[in-house]
Amino acid sequence: MFELNDSALLKTKLFINGEWVESDSGESFPVHSPATNQILATVANAGKSETRYAINCANNAMQLWQQTTAKHRANLLKKWFDLVTEHTEDLSKILTLEQGKPILEARAEVTYGAAYIEWFAEEAKRMYGDVIPSNHPNQRTLTLKQPVGVVAAITPWNFPIAMITRKVAPALAAGCAVVIKPAEATPLCALALAELASRAGLPKGLLSVVVGTNAAEIGQELSTNSIVKKLSFTGSTPVGKLLLKATADTVKKVSMELGGNAPFIVFEDTDIELAVEAAMASKFRNAGQTCVCANRFIVHSSIAQEFTEQLVAKVKGLKIGNGIEQDVTIGPLINKNAVNNMQVLVDDALAANATLEIGGTPLEQEGNYYPPTVLSSVTPEMRVFKEEIFGPIAPILTFDTEEQAISLANATDAGLASYIFTQCQRKIWRVSEKLENGIVGVNEGIISSEVAPFGGVKTSGLGREGSKYGLDDYTEIKYICIGNIEE
Ligand code: ADP
Repeated sequence: MFELNDSALLKTKLFINGEWVESDSGESFPVHSPATNQILATVANAGKSETRYAINCANNAMQLWQQTTAKHRANLLKKWFDLVTEHTEDLSKILTLEQGKPILEARAEVTYGAAYIEWFAEEAKRMYGDVIPSNHPNQRTLTLKQPVGVVAAITPWNFPIAMITRKVAPALAAGCAVVIKPAEATPLCALALAELASRAGLPKGLLSVVVGTNAAEIGQELSTNSIVKKLSFTGSTPVGKLLLKATADTVKKVSMELGGNAPFIVFEDTDIELAVEAAMASKFRNAGQTCVCANRFIVHSSIAQEFTEQLVAKVKGLKIGNGIEQDVTIGPLINKNAVNNMQVLVDDALAANATLEIGGTPLEQEGNYYPPTVLSSVTPEMRVFKEEIFGPIAPILTFDTEEQAISLANATDAGLASYIFTQCQRKIWRVSEKLENGIVGVNEGIISSEVAPFGGVKTSGLGREGSKYGLDDYTEIKYICIGNIEE
C-alpha cells in the first residue's frame, strides 16, 4: 500500500448504489505498478451479478435525477469538480502508481479530466430545444432534449481519469445515470473519482463502478441489458467491434472511441525545430500510449535527415524511469506484453531494412520499460506503418509530393488524429480538408481539450466527446407537435 494525504481516497471495494461493497464471490484481484510490478492494492472482482445490480440501481436513481433542474445538476457537478481539483496531488499519485505516466503528466491529466466536469456542469444549462416554424397555422412544432437513459461506460487504462470524466460528466449533466467499468489495470483512479462524487453529494445509484478481471462477462451484461440505453466505449478497435455487435439486439445508442494510426506530416517549408518539439510531445507523451499519438512520421525527403537528427538528439534527453520520481520524462509501459510487442514491431521493421537511429533493444531493468526508439527508412509494408504502435517507437518515412503525403496518411482504416506541419496557409486548408481524420493538428502536437470535439472517422469510432457537441451523445431529441390550437 502507499501513502496519500487523504487515505480514504484509496478504495478497494466496488461502488454500487452509493455503497462500498465486496464482490458477490468474495474474490479480489491485484493491481500492479507497471514501474516495479509490485502489488499496489487488491480490489474486489465483480462479474455479471454486480453489474446487473448496478444497472438496476442506476435505473431507479435516474427516475428522480432526470426531473431535477439543469442548474441543480450543474451545481452538483461543480462540487465534484472542486473536490477533484482539491485532491489533485493524491489523484496524480494514484494515477502514476497504477498507470505509470510521469507525475507531471499525471497532474496534467487530473486537470484535463476535471475540466470535462466543469465544462459539462456549464453545458448542462444549455441543453436547448427548438421552436420550429410550423407548416400549419394551427400547429406548433417543438423539440426537447431529454436524457437518453441509463449509460454504460467502458474505459481504458491509458487515461484512467480523463476517459471517465469525459463520459460521466456529460451523462450526469444530461440527466442520466452511469455504470462505469474501468480497465482492470487501473481501477484505483475510478474508485477515487467515485468517492469524490459521493462526497460532492451525488445521489446514490447515479454513478456506480464495477471493476473486474472478467471484462467480457461485465461487458456482455452492459452491452445486452435492455435497461442500458447507451454504451460509451473507449478502447481497442477489436473490442469496440465486438461491443457494437453485442448492442445490436437491444438497439442502443453507442459512442466508440477506438484505435488511431495518426500520420504526422512534415512539409519542406516547416519550422523544423517546432515540428520536432511537437513530435516529442505527440509521440512520447504517456510513453506513446495514447490513441492520438503520432504513429507515422511522413517527412519531406529534403528535410528528413535534419528532422531525424534533431528528433534523435531530443530523444537522448528523455529520462526513462519510475514516473513517481520528479525528473522522469518517460515512464514504463502498462505491462510486459506491451514491451514484448514493441520488440516484435521493431524486429519486423529491421528485418525489412528499416534503419535503427536510437533505442530498439529492451532495457535490463525491473519494470515494463522499453526505450524510446526512432526508425528511419520505414515503408508502408512494415507493421509499424500498418498498426497502432501504442508505445515509444517513432517510424519515419519520406515523401516528395503533397499528393504522396496525403495518400500515405490516408492509407489506413483508422481515422482519429492527424498532424501537419507547414507555414503555407493554402496548404493548411487543402491538406486538412483531404485528410480522413476526425482531428487535424496544424503546427501543434497536443490537440486534446474539453472545449473541442474529440472523435474519429473510419474505424476509429462513432460520436464526439467534449465541446458543445459532447452532450448530444447522451440525449434524445423529442419532437412535440401541438395541433388545433385555434378555438
Ligand atoms: P487495450 O488493448 O488498450 O487494453 P481494450 O479494448 O482491451 O484495450 O480495453 C479497453 C476496455 O475494454 C477495458 O476496460 C477492458 O477491460 C475492456 N474490455 C476488454 N475486453 C472486453 C470485452 N470483451 N467486453 C467488454 N469490455 C472489454
